[in-house]
Amino acid sequence: MHLALKVDVDTYDGMQDGIPNFLKLFKELGIRASFYVPFGPDASGRAVFRVFRKKGFLKKMFRTNALKLYSLKTMLRGTLLPAPMIGSSFPQLAQDIEREGHEIGIHGYHHVEWQDHLPGMSEEKIRRHYELGISAFEKVMGKKPKAFAAPAWMITSASLGIQDSFGFKYASDTRGKHPFYPVVGGKQFKTLQIPSTLPTMDEMLAWDGVNIENFNAQLTLQMKALSLSTHVHSIHTEVEGTALFPVFSAWIRDLKRDGVEFVTLNEIADETLKNKNAPQTEVRMSNLPGRAGPVAVQI
Ligand SMILES: [Zn+2]
Repeated sequence: MHLALKVDVDTYDGMQDGIPNFLKLFKELGIRASFYVPFGPDASGRAVFRVFRKKGFLKKMFRTNALKLYSLKTMLRGTLLPAPMIGSSFPQLAQDIEREGHEIGIHGYHHVEWQDHLPGMSEEKIRRHYELGISAFEKVMGKKPKAFAAPAWMITSASLGIQDSFGFKYASDTRGKHPFYPVVGGKQFKTLQIPSTLPTMDEMLAWDGVNIENFNAQLTLQMKALSLSTHVHSIHTEVEGTALFPVFSAWIRDLKRDGVEFVTLNEIADETLKNKNAPQTEVRMSNLPGRAGPVAVQI
């Protein structure tokens, strides 16, 4: 089985604390992964206001112990505390990711704004998110990003249309089973999507019967149940990279021992583009078990 790890950075603290943990572990095990970083501001404190707007968010915060996962500082950023830049504050760390053989792309620009407001955004504002993300990446990495991963798997027909104009090699904005070209409401788009195939840790921990102790076994069961030859698993610097790093490390060591082969999303994209075998598939914003708020799902 092939497994690609999609590492999403959501916050300043996650970048600072989670990236070094992952880099050290991956180096030790000889694993290459794909990292997606928002180079713009960390306004995650604004997420606190979601409590009042989105049904189920408060319940999830308590069930997944999010109050422990996210420090008080993170929860106030962009509200009472200023919003520091995420990727742009750590050029060395961003460059280390690539230097150590991993790939790095952009995870939007302003994560919270995209997550909370994308459906109501003007086309001009959406374009601005892409432009700011690309130019901030370029400043640090000395080249344009090849890949885009939408914050919170949020897309609209407009965001995919504008994305096409930037010529990314691939995007990972969706959840699904295999690489595809997205179709929304009959409209076809041309940027290849490499979807995440597995539920995330914070989602699964909100399921009945799943807890920290049995989490790894449950996740492996999910992997086997789907019987795909290649999986893409999304992990977060704020969850698997810090608070639950020991649990994640144990899982990865087990997989490595069992002979799972680790690949990058870029390699999956190369293979798909070479074989020209990605179908056009409908995408819809849908609710997934354990998640507060809908995500883009390959139908
Ligand atoms: Zn994210």
